[in-house]
Amino acid sequence: MSLVLPPDRFLTCRHCGITFVWTGWEQTQDAQAPAHCPGSRHVLALTRRQRGTVKWFDPRKGFGFITAADGSEIYVNRRALGRLKRLRRGDVVAFRIEQGRLGPFAVEVERLPREEDDRTI
Ligand SMILES: [Zn+2]
Repeated sequence: MSLVLPPDRFLTCRHCGITFVWTGWEQTQDAQAPAHCPGSRHVLALTRRQRGTVKWFDPRKGFGFITAADGSEIYVNRRALGRLKRLRRGDVVAFRIEQGRLGPFAVEVERLPREEDDRTI
């Protein structure tokens, strides 16, 4: 069985404006076109804190997933929680993304107050 890859596509980085290639192979791996060139992705992942919502977290297994603002699902391990012992489904969190061998994962996770809590003041 042979795998036929889609043709490479050229995209413009929303961060630095350069044109970069989204290869046919990458298109088979990624659900949606990347907004940033590989270099910017690396820099942004190192610097920008993101917001997301906990999709699920299993305290027994010690890991779960966060749904990021762009809809991607980011692995989160208990080790990334610091003083937080666990997360709950629906928690709003801030975190940074790092790229691991098996894909992106969340680090420096902190729980944010829910908007409803603010309105009760
Ligand atoms: Zn860029």
